[in-house]
Amino acid sequence: MSQPENNWYFVGTDGSQQGPHHLPSLLAMLSAGQITAATLVWSAGMDDWQPFASTFNIIAKTYRGRQEQATELFKKDSLTMATQGYSPTSQSYMPGSYGCGEFIIALLLCFILIGILIFIYMLIVKPNGTLSVTYEYRRVTMAEKICPKCAEQVKAAAKVCRFCHHEFE
Ligand SMILES: [Zn+2]
Repeated sequence: MSQPENNWYFVGTDGSQQGPHHLPSLLAMLSAGQITAATLVWSAGMDDWQPFASTFNIIAKTYRGRQEQATELFKKDSLTMATQGYSPTSQSYMPGSYGCGEFIIALLLCFILIGILIFIYMLIVKPNGTLSVTYEYRRVTMAEKICPKCAEQVKAAAKVCRFCHHEFE
Protein backbone atom coordinates (compact mmCIF):
# COMPACT_ATOMS: atom_id res chain seq x y z
CA MET A 1 0.00 0.00 0.00
CA SER A 2 1.37 3.42 -0.89
CA GLN A 3 1.63 5.92 1.93
CA PRO A 4 1.54 9.45 0.59
CA GLU A 5 3.33 11.99 2.76
CA ASN A 6 0.51 14.51 2.77
CA ASN A 7 -3.21 14.70 3.36
CA TRP A 8 -3.69 12.39 6.26
CA TYR A 9 -6.99 12.49 8.11
CA PHE A 10 -7.71 11.03 11.48
CA VAL A 11 -10.64 10.63 13.79
CA GLY A 12 -10.26 12.85 16.83
CA THR A 13 -11.11 11.81 20.37
CA ASP A 14 -14.42 13.62 19.98
CA GLY A 15 -15.19 11.52 16.89
CA SER A 16 -14.71 14.36 14.43
CA GLN A 17 -12.63 14.06 11.30
CA GLN A 18 -9.36 15.98 11.53
CA GLY A 19 -7.02 16.94 8.76
CA PRO A 20 -5.51 17.05 6.31
CA HIS A 21 -2.10 16.81 7.96
CA HIS A 22 1.36 16.12 6.70
CA LEU A 23 2.86 12.87 7.90
CA PRO A 24 5.50 14.61 10.06
CA SER A 25 2.68 16.50 11.84
CA LEU A 26 0.89 13.21 12.38
CA LEU A 27 4.04 11.70 13.91
CA ALA A 28 4.49 14.76 16.11
CA MET A 29 0.89 14.39 17.32
CA LEU A 30 1.62 10.76 18.12
CA SER A 31 4.55 11.83 20.30
CA ALA A 32 2.36 14.48 21.92
CA GLY A 33 -0.35 11.93 22.62
CA GLN A 34 -2.93 13.77 20.51
CA ILE A 35 -3.34 10.59 18.50
CA THR A 36 -2.60 7.02 19.54
CA ALA A 37 -1.78 3.73 17.89
CA ALA A 38 -5.52 3.02 17.86
CA THR A 39 -6.54 6.30 16.22
CA LEU A 40 -8.27 5.70 12.90
CA VAL A 41 -6.46 7.31 10.00
CA TRP A 42 -7.21 7.62 6.34
CA SER A 43 -5.53 9.00 3.25
CA ALA A 44 -6.34 9.00 -0.44
CA GLY A 45 -5.80 5.51 -1.90
CA MET A 46 -6.95 3.67 1.22
CA ASP A 47 -10.12 1.61 1.07
CA ASP A 48 -11.16 2.34 4.60
CA TRP A 49 -10.12 3.98 7.86
CA GLN A 50 -7.43 1.97 9.61
CA PRO A 51 -5.86 2.18 13.05
CA PHE A 52 -2.69 4.24 13.00
CA ALA A 53 -0.51 1.32 14.10
CA SER A 54 -1.68 -1.00 11.33
CA THR A 55 -1.20 1.74 8.74
CA PHE A 56 2.21 2.69 10.10
CA ASN A 57 3.77 -0.40 11.61
CA ILE A 58 7.16 1.11 10.87
CA ILE A 59 7.85 4.78 11.48
CA ALA A 60 10.93 6.77 10.56
CA LYS A 61 11.51 9.86 12.67
CA THR A 62 14.36 12.30 12.51
CA TYR A 63 15.93 14.33 15.29
CA ARG A 64 18.01 17.28 14.25
CA GLY A 65 20.96 18.80 16.06
CA ARG A 66 24.48 17.93 16.99
CA GLN A 67 24.87 14.26 17.85
CA GLU A 68 24.42 14.73 21.62
CA GLN A 69 21.43 17.04 21.11
CA ALA A 70 19.80 14.72 18.60
CA THR A 71 20.43 11.73 20.87
CA GLU A 72 18.88 13.63 23.78
CA LEU A 73 15.79 14.47 21.69
CA PHE A 74 15.58 10.84 20.58
CA LYS A 75 15.83 9.55 24.17
CA LYS A 76 13.03 11.85 25.31
CA ASP A 77 10.80 11.04 22.36
CA SER A 78 11.46 7.30 22.54
CA LEU A 79 9.89 7.30 26.02
CA THR A 80 6.59 8.70 24.74
CA MET A 81 6.82 6.56 21.62
CA ALA A 82 7.18 3.53 23.89
CA THR A 83 3.89 4.40 25.60
CA GLN A 84 2.34 4.26 22.12
CA GLY A 85 3.86 0.83 21.54
CA TYR A 86 6.70 1.88 19.29
CA SER A 87 10.23 0.75 20.12
CA PRO A 88 13.35 1.91 18.30
CA THR A 89 14.94 -0.76 16.13
CA SER A 90 17.87 1.05 14.56
CA GLN A 91 19.45 4.45 14.55
CA SER A 92 22.15 6.20 12.62
CA TYR A 93 23.53 9.67 12.86
CA MET A 94 24.60 11.55 9.77
CA PRO A 95 26.58 14.72 10.37
CA GLY A 96 25.09 17.80 8.78
CA SER A 97 26.72 19.19 5.66
CA TYR A 98 26.90 22.63 4.19
CA GLY A 99 25.54 23.49 0.77
CA CYS A 100 27.57 24.69 -2.19
CA GLY A 101 26.45 28.31 -1.72
CA GLU A 102 27.56 28.30 1.90
CA PHE A 103 30.98 27.02 0.83
CA ILE A 104 31.35 29.83 -1.72
CA ILE A 105 30.38 32.46 0.85
CA ALA A 106 32.82 30.96 3.34
CA LEU A 107 35.51 31.00 0.67
CA LEU A 108 34.84 34.67 -0.11
CA LEU A 109 34.95 35.46 3.61
CA CYS A 110 38.31 33.66 3.73
CA PHE A 111 39.67 35.94 1.02
CA ILE A 112 38.31 39.02 2.80
CA LEU A 113 39.74 37.79 6.08
CA ILE A 114 43.12 37.06 4.50
CA GLY A 115 43.06 40.58 3.01
CA ILE A 116 42.29 42.07 6.42
CA LEU A 117 45.06 40.02 8.03
CA ILE A 118 47.54 41.15 5.37
CA PHE A 119 46.45 44.76 5.89
CA ILE A 120 46.90 44.49 9.67
CA TYR A 121 50.29 42.84 9.10
CA MET A 122 51.28 45.74 6.84
CA LEU A 123 50.21 48.22 9.51
CA ILE A 124 52.09 46.47 12.30
CA VAL A 125 55.12 45.01 10.59
CA LYS A 126 57.09 47.54 8.61
CA PRO A 127 59.03 46.24 5.62
CA ASN A 128 62.80 46.05 5.80
CA GLY A 129 64.24 49.58 5.92
CA THR A 130 67.48 50.96 4.65
CA LEU A 131 70.11 52.52 6.87
CA SER A 132 72.19 55.09 4.98
CA VAL A 133 75.70 55.74 6.30
CA THR A 134 78.14 58.29 4.94
CA TYR A 135 81.89 57.61 5.22
CA GLU A 136 84.61 60.15 4.88
CA TYR A 137 88.15 59.09 4.11
CA ARG A 138 90.64 60.94 6.23
CA ARG A 139 94.18 60.56 5.11
CA VAL A 140 96.80 60.36 7.86
CA THR A 141 98.94 63.47 7.60
CA MET A 142 102.70 63.30 7.72
CA ALA A 143 102.70 64.78 11.19
CA GLU A 144 100.69 61.89 12.61
CA LYS A 145 101.04 58.16 12.92
CA ILE A 146 98.80 55.26 13.84
CA CYS A 147 99.49 53.52 17.13
CA PRO A 148 100.09 49.85 16.28
CA LYS A 149 98.51 48.76 19.56
CA CYS A 150 95.26 50.75 19.76
CA ALA A 151 95.03 52.05 16.16
CA GLU A 152 94.47 55.62 17.33
CA GLN A 153 95.98 58.58 15.57
CA VAL A 154 98.80 60.21 17.50
CA LYS A 155 101.41 62.82 16.73
CA ALA A 156 104.27 61.55 14.64
CA ALA A 157 106.81 62.74 17.21
CA ALA A 158 105.08 61.03 20.13
CA LYS A 159 107.18 58.57 22.11
CA VAL A 160 104.17 57.24 24.07
CA CYS A 161 100.62 56.73 22.76
CA ARG A 162 98.31 59.18 24.47
CA PHE A 163 95.50 56.67 24.35
CA CYS A 164 97.02 53.37 25.44
CA HIS A 165 100.45 54.45 26.60
CA HIS A 166 102.14 52.26 24.06
CA GLU A 167 105.76 53.16 23.82
CA PHE A 168 106.99 53.75 20.32
CA GLU A 169 110.52 52.51 19.50
ZN1 LIG B 1 97.99 53.54 21.44
